[in-house]
Amino acid sequence: MDLEFDRDHIWHPYSSLINPPPVYPVARADGVRLHLEDGRTLIDGMSSWWCALHGYNVPELNRAAREQMEKMSHVMFGGLTHEPAITLSKKLVEITPEPLQRVFLADSGSVSVEVAIKMALQFWQSQGRAQKNKLLALRNGYHGDTFGAMATCDPVTGMHHLFASQLTQHFFAPAPRPKFDKPCSDADFAELQSLIEQHRDQLAGVILEPIVQGAGGMRFYSPEYLRRVRALCDENDLLLIADEIATGFGRTGKLFACEHAGISPDILTVGKALTGGTMTLAATLCTDRVAEGICRGEAGVFMHGPTFMGNPLACAVSSASIDLLLGSPWQQRVAAIEAQLKRELAPLKEASTVADVRALGAIGVVEMREPVDMQRVQEALIAHGVWLRPFGKLVYAMPPYVMSAEDLSQLTGAMVDVLGDR
Ligand SMILES: *Cc1c(COP(=O)(O)O)cnc(C)c1O
Repeated sequence: MDLEFDRDHIWHPYSSLINPPPVYPVARADGVRLHLEDGRTLIDGMSSWWCALHGYNVPELNRAAREQMEKMSHVMFGGLTHEPAITLSKKLVEITPEPLQRVFLADSGSVSVEVAIKMALQFWQSQGRAQKNKLLALRNGYHGDTFGAMATCDPVTGMHHLFASQLTQHFFAPAPRPKFDKPCSDADFAELQSLIEQHRDQLAGVILEPIVQGAGGMRFYSPEYLRRVRALCDENDLLLIADEIATGFGRTGKLFACEHAGISPDILTVGKALTGGTMTLAATLCTDRVAEGICRGEAGVFMHGPTFMGNPLACAVSSASIDLLLGSPWQQRVAAIEAQLKRELAPLKEASTVADVRALGAIGVVEMREPVDMQRVQEALIAHGVWLRPFGKLVYAMPPYVMSAEDLSQLTGAMVDVLGDR
């Protein structure tokens, strides 16, 4: 591989082309293993950023792609439709909370968030309440890298000041304080409640990641908090947008994280694991009320339509991935991974450099006291035969659900070895 060309010409996520970090060439991937060009093999603890639930080179997904490719890889969605989009949308309506009945197929997570925000704004515009055009978001949240999505990310870690003149100024509530399994008190909601009550006439809705705040801190919070937000939205005429791009498809132990709280949002985004990690696809679902509200408005239509909307190849693979997931003992697998992560990462709680260790579903997080030297930690983990991608103070694992207990032990063992006191 021409790594020199890569270094000089190709952007990687959040990378510098003046001082490029090392990148490791992958030749192929199979099961839970990444095979590097130089012959080394790494156990993948990242699922390629939440996506590869079933691991790599999955026969069922490959077959779905191959069969669809021989019919048509793509066709425009304007004025045409096809079986893969219908089959997938039926499944999404069926497996998401009941009030979500209408499906918009988008190209990536960030685009599905743009679509969700636009739905909320167009909904209130249609009701003759166009001044309800701001959102309430949570600190430590992450919703994507495009401008609309970025404006709802944590203002500090999302570096809002860099783009201040271009970003919509939304409202931000403190990150949810009550931990996943801890009780909540009224004080935990005071600021959220007062922001909502004070700005309800300007607010289109609340946008949040249910239960797990991902890229903005890997924080797990209480279902009671989510129930309270749902109630506040109802009491104050706000739409609730749940971004399940990271949490969807079983990662937290429920098929969708909203199920922990028994609530349904008005608008839901899914992405990442939707295709089982084979390619990009996302979706934004909404209720009948939101869809009908939008379509009765001035425009008469929902004003969005990507070129690759409803890509048949991605839809066919997504349907195959959902079938594979639902046909597997995924709940037992995720519960077993959670128990093993808790058990095997526990020794790190004693380490002087570690601030917190936590696990929920198939997510294990080690939060250090200081930001880690990513390059050093990554190299040390690779020497142990595992692939993780730390950021800031966080070193975390979200393995494919099909990972064996033995491989997971190697992964957690490497984390304990590299991060623990020596
Ligand atoms: C990854 C992510 C996004 C953005 O998705 P992309 O496919 O990277 O555009 C949005 N929201 C959440 C919660 C995510 O984890």
